[in-house]
Amino acid sequence: MDPLQQMLSVAEARARILEHFEPLSTEVVALGACLRRVLGSAVVARHDLPPFANSSMDGYAVRRHDADGAGPGHEVRLPVSMDIPAGSGLPGPLTPGTAARIMTGAPMPPGADAVVPVEDTNDRRDRMGGTPAEVAIRVAPAPGQYVRPVGQDVRAGEVVMPTGTVLGPAALGVLAALGYSQVTVYRQPRVALFSTGDELRQVGEPLGPGQIRDVNSYTLAAAAEHYGAQVLRLGIVRDRLEAVQAVLAAAAGQGADLVLSSAGVSVGAYDVVKTAVETAGGLQFWRVRMRPGKPLAFGRVHGVPFFGLPGNPVSALMTFEVFVRPSLLKLAGRRHWDKLAITAALAEPVRSDGRESYLRVVVTRRGEAYVARPAGDQGSAVLSSLVRANGLLILPEGVTEARAGERFTVWLVDGADAALLDEG
Ligand code: AMP
Ligand code: MG
Repeated sequence: MDPLQQMLSVAEARARILEHFEPLSTEVVALGACLRRVLGSAVVARHDLPPFANSSMDGYAVRRHDADGAGPGHEVRLPVSMDIPAGSGLPGPLTPGTAARIMTGAPMPPGADAVVPVEDTNDRRDRMGGTPAEVAIRVAPAPGQYVRPVGQDVRAGEVVMPTGTVLGPAALGVLAALGYSQVTVYRQPRVALFSTGDELRQVGEPLGPGQIRDVNSYTLAAAAEHYGAQVLRLGIVRDRLEAVQAVLAAAAGQGADLVLSSAGVSVGAYDVVKTAVETAGGLQFWRVRMRPGKPLAFGRVHGVPFFGLPGNPVSALMTFEVFVRPSLLKLAGRRHWDKLAITAALAEPVRSDGRESYLRVVVTRRGEAYVARPAGDQGSAVLSSLVRANGLLILPEGVTEARAGERFTVWLVDGADAALLDEG
């Protein structure tokens, strides 16, 4: 059968789409600008972390056996032979039979093998004052207690983070600790975005009869940026073949890694996007057995992968989530793009038409189990129910009816965790 006439399953369409994407090149970026970027080369530890053995408590460093006898009603008194604040350079060895006053993060003096916290001494526990001549130890220290040994966290030469690691706050911290002020990361995908439709007006313009505001430019730009892309906003394009051809050429000319449009890909008399894509490269397919979102065009224009998403705002966002999001993540060097999913029981019966269906649901927790209830009207133009939803429940292909209590996979909408409240 002609592939353009064939309607693909969601999984087939996604697999075919992902073949068109490979990770982009890498670039070197200042550490402070690396949040959510993806490592383009493995990070190898340049030195141990911590780089020197240090104390994890404010207190007194000792040779453990010098304080062995301490216990209830039994103080061991040691002269204080040195004072070691944090940042004071490496101290000399600890004289046997003495204690060194030491602060959290200060280097251990050679010879000392334990730290007695100030709470276990006769020193003031609210705030330590001047260095005392002597300290009374009330609890015998365990070997190595409150000492952070060299390399406890990371050993020199170790691969701390592999290529493809997404840099969150903790990863940035490890890079900082190792002295990486510049980091090799994958380039961010550049997405050229436009909306088609003669009925569309910009958000700040008054509406004439029969006109609506361009919603998809905002939702899709936000979604693309959310997943790490830089968006080239090309605005509203009229339903004219030449206008769409011109914007496709402009998108490719401006170095887009992916071209994204909405509307004009169905069977309407003015749906010119498919024809424009055919003349600018080629169309791979344009329909998927998915609800919402059947008319989804995918192809290449001037060598650049192209998505023609449906015009209805919910369909556009859903097909973005299912097809464009994994493509962007793959471009950006990510190795995994599966959504975080839970299993939830339907709170009420639902129907579908047998296409793989993504229902907007509100998920709540009942004890250990999750319950999903439709978030409102499931129409493909009803965006407000998507605002209320904290999950997308997936009815697999072939399911036309599901009973209350049946369990299905639910993708959590980002940030949904906060809304997963106990029903009580
Ligand atoms: P189409 O695929 O062009 O037939 O569009 C399908 C539906 O989506 C129609 O009701 C359009 O008015 C609507 N639509 C198309 N583009 C947008 C947009 N950018 N913002 C809001 N609604 C849109
Ligand atoms: Mg249209």
